[in-house]
Order: sequence, then structure tokens, then C-alpha cells
Amino acid sequence: MRLEPEQQLGEACGVAGFYLPAEFADKSEAARSLFFMLYALNHRGQESAGVATFDGREAHLHKDMGLVAQVFTEDTLRPLRGHFGIGHTRYSTTGGSVLSNAQPYLIETLHGPLAVAHNGNLTNAAQLRTELLQRGVGLISTSDTEVITQMLASPTVGGDSPLARWLPAGDWEHRIAAFMEKAEGAYSLAILTRDALFAVRDPWGLRPLCLGEITWEGGKSYVFASESCALGTVGARLVREVEPGEIVRVDEDGFHSFRGRAPEPRAFCCFEYVYFARPDSVFEGQTVHHVRQAMGRRLAIEAPADADIVVGVPDSSTPAAIGYALESGIPFSEGLIKNRYIGRTFIQPGDHLRRIGVRLKYNPLYGNLKGKRVVMVDDSIVRGNTAGPLVALLREGGASEVHVRISSPPVRWPCFMGVDMPTHEELIAAHKKVEDIRKLIDADSLAYLSLEGMMAAIERGIPGHLPRGHCHACFSGRYPVRVA
Ligand code: 5GP
Ligand code: MG
Repeated sequence: MRLEPEQQLGEACGVAGFYLPAEFADKSEAARSLFFMLYALNHRGQESAGVATFDGREAHLHKDMGLVAQVFTEDTLRPLRGHFGIGHTRYSTTGGSVLSNAQPYLIETLHGPLAVAHNGNLTNAAQLRTELLQRGVGLISTSDTEVITQMLASPTVGGDSPLARWLPAGDWEHRIAAFMEKAEGAYSLAILTRDALFAVRDPWGLRPLCLGEITWEGGKSYVFASESCALGTVGARLVREVEPGEIVRVDEDGFHSFRGRAPEPRAFCCFEYVYFARPDSVFEGQTVHHVRQAMGRRLAIEAPADADIVVGVPDSSTPAAIGYALESGIPFSEGLIKNRYIGRTFIQPGDHLRRIGVRLKYNPLYGNLKGKRVVMVDDSIVRGNTAGPLVALLREGGASEVHVRISSPPVRWPCFMGVDMPTHEELIAAHKKVEDIRKLIDADSLAYLSLEGMMAAIERGIPGHLPRGHCHACFSGRYPVRVA
């Protein structure tokens, strides 16, 4: 057996935390709520899912490969007793798609059970891993989340954190802050211990994490989620985002906030706005749908087209296509219908099906396309395998011209901060000019949104009192943290 930490570069996942005071909770109340929260976050990861809970005496865990609805059944949920817990849904690159990398991680420590769910990617994971191994800590997976878990469990880690001055060593806040002093890169964490639930966000705020509140007569409680779209499903309301560098603790006394580490220059991921997040989620005081629509509007100004209809590539680019249509005055229409149930099937397509490619997912809407000059808006071109077959599908559907408009800039740089971005070699725009890509996908024209246009669309809607600062490394090559 050889565990290569490099294999797991790039994970954009969903995390969740749920807490109810013990007297209000049924036996597996937390697990059931976490199931529904993870269901709402399933777009963030379809590889594996898991929930860990604590019932006052012992911790419980279930995790497996598959979609949230495949992993959890009445039978797997029932044993997950407890009034609080954490959950995770995982998106991984091919190398790390094994059960040993599924989350949450649950271990027993000197201070009781410790479970960790992580979204992001530590850029100094290899170094931290080596330090743990040198201290004699054994690791069973390739995941940097296991490194985080072991660092939190270890009483000798860190020691010089700002919190150390006034918290007794051994308190979880202290250990988390000590970990934060050493960690570089992206981490939004949900942590479970025997008497508290924690939410932690890296000092750059690279990946999202929000805090929600559930209120009822005579009571109040708190939940965490990667995206606000998961809050409504359990009757919670968005309070605010977890701040970069912040540690939030929820326990039977309610809510507490600590500064784990001074914030770094803010670097929230632009790709969350472009593709990753659900359109009804709210980041930085604005709804993702409206940011995507603004990107589409900018795109229409920067790259107009002479055409009859605008179609999106459902679902991710629909808001941008609507924006393009509104700004250009060209009517929005449906041209591609997506099977919304296909997702990740875990059935490997055979050779014949692989050649069919996007047909597995999309059908053209013949009546809408026949004889039309079409603007096809998509949110991104990454590897470049999708746009060509979609153009062909629109032509097959009767389109007389297909003008491709991309509502983000060319992706030229790999992500080391938690988005599943391929290597340099695999990114088509890293080594091909726009005109060459146009030829390859057989479009009548091809244009991308500029970096300035994308940033204007993202930053224009952020309320004045909120700080700004984003990571656009995959488009610009300017990384906010040191990368290998
Ligand atoms: P590609 O250019 O890699 O063939 O695919 C681009 C398409 O995939 C776009 O339609 C975009 O919406 C979608 N896409 C962008 N990023 C991701 C990702 O991280 N995972 C998946 N499954 N699709 C993505
Ligand atoms: Mg898409």
C-alpha cells in the first residue's frame, strides 16, 4: 500500500452542521435534518456522503460511496442517534475516489470523540502530513482531512496561537486555533466533539460557509452549511457567513464566536459564482442567480451577436443566458432539455455510450431551433469536451448558426484551493487560442467574458458595508496563497 497525498488535490465538497438542545430532539433528529441539508448540497459532491452524530454518550457515523439519497435510508439513519452532528458530501478527482477518503472522519481522542468534515484543500498538506508521520501518527487515507483531524487531536501541535494565552490547553478552540496557525489554503470545517459543534473558516475565506438560525417558541438553535440553499430545508434562516479566520462554537449555552487567526486578504472563490453554487444560494449579501445574470448582461455588452434566440445549457448557465437575453433584447428560449435525474450514475458508460457523450444528458428542442441563429451561453469551458458536442446537437436540432458565449474568462490555471480543476495540460484554454477553440468546437463565433467584466458582475452587487476580495486564480494565475 502506498498513499500518495497528491492524489487528492482538488475537492469541492459540501459540509453541514446541525444542533438542537437535547430536550427538543427526537432520537435521530440531527441525522434526519443533516440528511435533508446534504440533499440540498448534493450538487457540491456526488462521490460519497456521510453523517456523524453524538447522543450524549457516544458518537455514531455512517458514510458510503454514492449520492446522498443512495447512502442514506431509514435503516442507515436510525442508528445515528443524537441531538447534534455534522455531515459531508464529497466531490473528488479520480485518484481519490475510495471509501477511505469519504467523510466525516471520526476518531476517539483523550477528550472524547472528534469528527471532522472539510470542504477545501490545504496547500501545505504534504508538509503537515510529513510532520505527523515523523511524530509517529499513522494515517489511513490520502485525504488532507485526516491530517486536519489528527492535528486537532494532537495535544502537542502548535501552542503559540493567540487563543493559547487565555484558554486552557486542551480546549477545542485552542486546538483549532493552533491548527489554523499552521494550515495554509482552503478549509471550511464542521467539527463535532462530545459537547459542542464547531464551524471554522480559513483566514482567506476561500470556500463558503454560512450560519443559520432555527427559532421556535421558547427556543433557538444553530446550523451551518456550505451554502444557504441548505438552510430552508430544515426551517433555518440565514444569519450571516462564518467570517474568514473565525471559529464558531455551538453548545448547550448557545452560540460563541472566537477569532482563530487574523484574517488574510479576502479571497472568496469566483468559481462558486460562475458554476459551483446553487443559484438560490446567497454569498456576500447577493443571490448567486443575480450575479450570474449580471455576468450574462456584461457578456452581451462585451460580445454581442446577430442572432434570433438565446439558449442556455441547463442548469448551470440558465441565469447567464437570461441576462444575455435581457441585455441584448434577443429572446431567451429553451434549446436543450436536460435529463435532471442523470447526475452521476455510477454506471460507467460503455464505448458506444461514451461516443454519444452529451446525448446521455441532453436532447435538442427541434421546434425552437429550426432555422434559428442561436446564441448558446454556457458558464465555462474547462477541458473543452462539452461545448463541441453541444454545438453539434444544436445544429442537429436545426440551428442555422451557433454563436457560443461563455459567461466567465478562459480557465487557464489549475485550482489548489478546493475546486476539481484539471491539471494545466487538460485545461483547453491553457494551450489553445480562442480562435483554435472555436474551430475545434465548430462554432460560428466564440467569445468569453473578460476578467474585468466578471469581477464587475461579482462585486457590483456586494452591499457597501461588506469587504471585498476574491480568488480568480483559475482565470488569472494570481494565487492568493503559496502553491507548490
Ligand atoms: P468541459 O469544458 O470540461 O468539457 O465542460 C464544461 C462544462 O462543464 C460546462 O457546461 C460547465 O457548466 C460544466 N462544469 C464546469 N466545472 C465543472 C465541474 O467542476 N464539474 C462538472 N461536473 N462540470 C463542470
Ligand atoms: Mg453546465
